Amino acid sequence: EKSTIVIGAGIAGIAAAIRLAVKGYKVSVFEANSYPGGKLTEFESSGFRFDAGPSLFTMPQYVDELFTLAGKNPTDYFRYQKLEAICRYFYEDGTRLTAWSDSDKLADEIALKTRDTRESVKRFLRKSRDIYDITHHVFLEKSLHRLDSYLNKETLKSVFRFGEIDAFKTMNEANEKYFHDDKTRRFFNRYATYNGSDPYQAPATLNIIPHLEQHFGAYFPEGGMHAITESLVRLAEDLGVRFYYNSLVDEILHQQGQVAGVRVGDKCFFACDVISNMDVWFTYRKLLKGIKLPGRTLSQERSSSALIFYWGIGASFKELDLHNIFFSEDYEKEFSAIWKGKTIDDDPTVYLNISSKYCQADAPEGSENWFVMINVPANIGQDWDGLIAAARANIIKKLSRVLNQDIGSFIQVEKVLDPREIEAKTSSYQGSLYGTSSNGRFAAFLRHPNFIGSVKGLYFVGGSVHPGGGIPLALLSAKIIDDKF
Ligand code: FAD
Repeated sequence: EKSTIVIGAGIAGIAAAIRLAVKGYKVSVFEANSYPGGKLTEFESSGFRFDAGPSLFTMPQYVDELFTLAGKNPTDYFRYQKLEAICRYFYEDGTRLTAWSDSDKLADEIALKTRDTRESVKRFLRKSRDIYDITHHVFLEKSLHRLDSYLNKETLKSVFRFGEIDAFKTMNEANEKYFHDDKTRRFFNRYATYNGSDPYQAPATLNIIPHLEQHFGAYFPEGGMHAITESLVRLAEDLGVRFYYNSLVDEILHQQGQVAGVRVGDKCFFACDVISNMDVWFTYRKLLKGIKLPGRTLSQERSSSALIFYWGIGASFKELDLHNIFFSEDYEKEFSAIWKGKTIDDDPTVYLNISSKYCQADAPEGSENWFVMINVPANIGQDWDGLIAAARANIIKKLSRVLNQDIGSFIQVEKVLDPREIEAKTSSYQGSLYGTSSNGRFAAFLRHPNFIGSVKGLYFVGGSVHPGGGIPLALLSAKIIDDKF
């Protein structure tokens, strides 16, 4: 029996462990924390349950696939429901807009609430679909670092259409051509933040994201986002994967260009293959000795981070849904503060997630569990305590203004998560949520590969490597390495 070691029980590490266990490998997962899931975890406080990290679940087929691969029925482990209304948007002038999952309804809604037309929305969504059709085989589902990825008909067909993927204008520039109304532009520009990028710098190729949300839909997992982690860990354990918690890997052992195992404290564990789910920046800096650093990849700009207030709110709000966005008035200024100023604007766009809207048990009766998040720069040693205090006051003012209620007075429970802690809890360099940013034109090509020539048997999965951050892409990274076994 061949053995494999996985470093880290983040979602990609768990997915990789499942895939190799299905192939008959003996798999051991070493996780530094006392719990699995990495960013995808939960906590409880005074009767409120909170998903700590991700809140938007898209492309559930990549989770289901793991159960079917193992010969199991996905619904025996994990269930979810499709959202008809994906998100409610609130603007300061009183406009309220619902992003329906049905694209005709969405186009009607935007035509009704903004100065843009139904046809402009449909045209935009067709373009978004085209970008997906052209790029997904090449950028998302394959290794970019193997020749055979390029030598097939599908890829070559895509390559001939690369001129259509809008890599040479920014997302905002493209969206200004489609839409007149600043409200619609903000609506579609926001999709850049789904992988921690800046719509005023990132290539318009990222306009693929609205298609993913519209076409594949957005979902709510029964029991909340953490159910993704829980059900996959259960599947992995059923397949014989062993999880070792509180086990920080200190070193990846290798000799003569071949991986040999890992060192955890003063104990060595040997295996034919090692899969690192640790952020690639730290994998090189902390775990790999005697290897030349891939300088260009490691010096890439990091994605943005997040500041989150978890509030137990002693009231309930009919006008709010599972996902809600409160837009800043000057979106460009907000992003300039994040990316150029490395700070937080005084009028940040606020994302509010309330899982108790779908799962009542997440909050006491008559109350709601608010996950209140803003995009912030990656951690480069800013005065976070000062920034957090100012942001908290600005967020409360904004929500109170738009909802016309004194929001601060309803807060009964409060916890905060900032970039420093995201870095400390999940070893994500600078607390970035999605590894590197996609602001550069060719950023997708510069993400670290899923394997390297200099250490055979060593693989890389997770949000910091190809094909990128976010749950679906992290799951795809595990699928890409699966082809190598
Ligand atoms: P991570 O979750 O980063 O886990 C890595 C694991 O490895 C950790 O458990 C860590 O402890 C462990 N580890 C690291 N080093 C070692 C070591 N040396 N030894 C042992 N263990 C180690 N994505 C979405 O799809 N939708 C969203 O709505 C969304 N929102 C987000 C909101 C927030 C606040 C955050 C933080 C992220 C969000 N994301 C979202 C991104 C998503 O969480 C990540 O893309 C995904 O969870 C990354 O998974 P991963 O497998 O790369 O590992």
